[in-house]
Amino acid sequence: MSTETRTTCPYCGVGCGVIATVDDAGSVSVKGDPDHPANFGRLCSKGSALAETLDLEGRTLYPEIMGERASWDTALDTVARTFAETIAKSGPDSVAFYVSGQLLTEDYYVANKLMKGFIGSANIDTNSRLCMASSVAGHRRAFGADTVPGTYEDLELADLVVLVGSNMGWCHPVLYQRLAAAKTARPGMKVVVIDPRRTATSDIADLHLSIRPDGDVALFNGLLAHLAKSTAIDENYLAAHTTGFADAFAAASALSFAGLIDNTGLGASELRQFFGLFERTEKVVTCYSQGVNQSSVGTDKVNAIINCHLATGRIGRPGMGPFSLTGQPNAMGGREVGGLANMLAAHMTIENPEHRDCVQRFWNAPTIASRPGLKAVDMFEAVADGRIKALWIMSTNPVVSMPDADRVKAAIEACPFVVVSDILKETDTARLAHVLLPATGWGEKSGTVTNSERRISRQRPFLPAPGEARPDWWQIAEVARRMGFEAAFSFRSAAEIFAEHAALSAFENDGARDFDIGAYAAIDETGFNALAPFQWPQPAGTGPGTTRFFAEGRFFHPDGKARFVPVAPDVPQRTCSDFPLVLNTGRVRDHWHTMTRTGKSARLSAHIAEPYAEMHPADARGLGIGDADLVELASETGSRAIVRTLLSARQSRGSIFVPMHWTGETSAQGRIDALVPPVTDPVSGQPASKHVAVQAKRF
Ligand code: SF4
Repeated sequence: MSTETRTTCPYCGVGCGVIATVDDAGSVSVKGDPDHPANFGRLCSKGSALAETLDLEGRTLYPEIMGERASWDTALDTVARTFAETIAKSGPDSVAFYVSGQLLTEDYYVANKLMKGFIGSANIDTNSRLCMASSVAGHRRAFGADTVPGTYEDLELADLVVLVGSNMGWCHPVLYQRLAAAKTARPGMKVVVIDPRRTATSDIADLHLSIRPDGDVALFNGLLAHLAKSTAIDENYLAAHTTGFADAFAAASALSFAGLIDNTGLGASELRQFFGLFERTEKVVTCYSQGVNQSSVGTDKVNAIINCHLATGRIGRPGMGPFSLTGQPNAMGGREVGGLANMLAAHMTIENPEHRDCVQRFWNAPTIASRPGLKAVDMFEAVADGRIKALWIMSTNPVVSMPDADRVKAAIEACPFVVVSDILKETDTARLAHVLLPATGWGEKSGTVTNSERRISRQRPFLPAPGEARPDWWQIAEVARRMGFEAAFSFRSAAEIFAEHAALSAFENDGARDFDIGAYAAIDETGFNALAPFQWPQPAGTGPGTTRFFAEGRFFHPDGKARFVPVAPDVPQRTCSDFPLVLNTGRVRDHWHTMTRTGKSARLSAHIAEPYAEMHPADARGLGIGDADLVELASETGSRAIVRTLLSARQSRGSIFVPMHWTGETSAQGRIDALVPPVTDPVSGQPASKHVAVQAKRF
C-alpha cells in the first residue's frame, strides 16, 4: 500500500506544500498539496522534479576523518575536543559556524544556542547573508524589528504590483503563477517590473523599467519626492505613526529631475508613468528580491521602498505594503532563531542588554555573546588570516557560492580544522573537510521551515535515513554534550526543539517583540506531527488566521512609530577602463544553488545545459564576439570564467548576466562567484553580487 506524506519543498522561499507518495516498490512521486496556503496544489519545474533528486549516488553515508571512515563517537569526540581546545587556547571568537538557509529551524536553533549561549561567541553566520540580509537590516531600521508586514494574498488583492530586482517568474515561480492568474482574472491590475534585464517576469509587465544597476535608491527617492507633492501622501498616518519624514523628504528632493534620469538611466516619460501609477493606485504591493538585497547599497534600497509605503500609509492593509521575497526555503526560520551573526534568538538583538539577559536566563546559559559576530564575508576573511582556527560548515557550499570564491577556497584549505556536515560527499567544500559528517536530507529529516510570508510549515520524513546519516540538530547537540553542556542539549527530537523555540519566543514577551509563537510552547510529538501550516505571530491562546502587521500603525521601535530613513541616491561606480562591463549574477529557472541536487535531474538540466554569458548583441559585436562563442570574463579578483555567449536584446547595453549555479575545479569552468569581489553593504554585510565590473574577450 502506498503512503502519502505532507511536507514542504526544500527550494525557494515560496515554501510550497508537497505531497510525497511512496509506493510498494519504494518509488517516490510528488505533487502539489492542494490544501497548502502557499501554493494550493501548484508546483514549479524544480518542485515537480523533486523525486528525481533522491537517489543515493554521491551521498555521505558515514562519518569520515581525513577521508577515512570513522565511527560517530570518534568523529563527534574529535569535533568537540578540537573546538574545546581551540576555544581554551585562543578564545571563543577563534571558532565559527557557517550555516545555511537550507537547514531546518530546529537545526538552526541548536547551532545558534551552542555558539551564542554556550561557546559565548556570535560567530555564526549563514548563506542567508548572501540572500536577504539587506531586507533584515532595512526592516529593523524602519519597523524596529525584522517584520514582513504582508502575505502572498496581498499580491492577488493589489491593483498594482511593483517587482523590484526580482525575476519572480524563474526564482519564485509559484508565486508568479498566482500573480499571473490574478492579473488574468482582473485585467485592470497593473504590474511594473524594475530590472536592468528584460527577464521572463517582464512578460506580464505593463511597464518594464530597465534601470541602471543600483539606480533603485534614486528611483524610489524620486517617487517619494513626487508623492510628497501629491494627494497620495497620508498626513494623518505620517503624524500618528511615523517619525523622520522631513529628513527623508529632504534627502529625496536633493536630486533634480535631470539627476534622476541620469542616476536611474530611465527616460522622463517612463519615470512620470511609474510615479503617476503609484500615486493613483492605493492598493500597491512592492516586492523586492536579490536585485535589491545583493548590493553595496541594498539596505538603503529597502528603506527607499519602505519610505514610499509609509508616506502613503499603504502598509499592513489588504493588497498593500512592501514585501521582501526571500530566496531560500528557510531564510526566515533562520532569522527567527537568530541564525545571523548580528541577531539573537527569537528576533531579539545582541546590542540590547535586556534581550541578552532574557535569552541567557531562558537558556540557563553560562554566557551570552555580547557583540555581533563576523558576517559571512568577514568570517572567511578571518579564516584566511588565521583568526578563525576551527570552522564548522553545515549544508552549504561556500567554495562555489561565496564572493571571491577562489580566495574562500584557499582560506578553507589552510584552516587548521574544518568540519563539514552535508548530504553529499563530493561537493567542492566537502572535499576540504578534516571531519565530514553525514547529514539527513529532504524526505529524511523532520522539522519546520518559514516561507516569505511568515508561514511555518513542516518538513516531514518519508524515507529512511541512508547509511549512518543523522539530522544536523542531532550532530550539534551531540558535540555540545561532549563539550560539557549536557543539560541544555538533551533534545530527543525536532518536536522538543520546536517547543523550546516557541517557549523562548513567548518568554517575557508582552507584545513588544514581533516574533511570538507561544501557542506552540507545549507542543508534543503528536501535535508536532500533525502541525498544519500557520503564520506567525501566534501567541498563546490564539489560533491560526491571516495576519498582517502594522494595520493599526503600531511598530516595534520603543515609541511605537516607524522610522523614515533618509537615503542618498548615489549610484556606486564600479566600472573602469580595465573592467568596463557590469556583471550581474543570478539564478536560472530549473537549477538551485550549486546544483548538488537539481543537477541529478536530466529533465531539469535539459532546460539550460551549461553556464552562459547573456550579452547585448551590440556589445558583443563591438568586442568581436559572436553568438555561442566562448568568452573569457575577468574581474579585479584576478579570477576568470570561460562561458558560452548568449546574445540577446533582453540584456541591457553594457551588462552581462551569468548564472551562479555552475562549479568546477577552476573558475575557468564557470564558477562565476570567483569573479565577485568581497564588496558588501556597510549596514547588512550583504555582498554586491549583481554589480561587478568585468572585462570580456573572445576565448
Ligand atoms: Fe519549490 Fe519554490 Fe517551486 Fe514552490 S516555487 S515548488 S517552493 S521551488
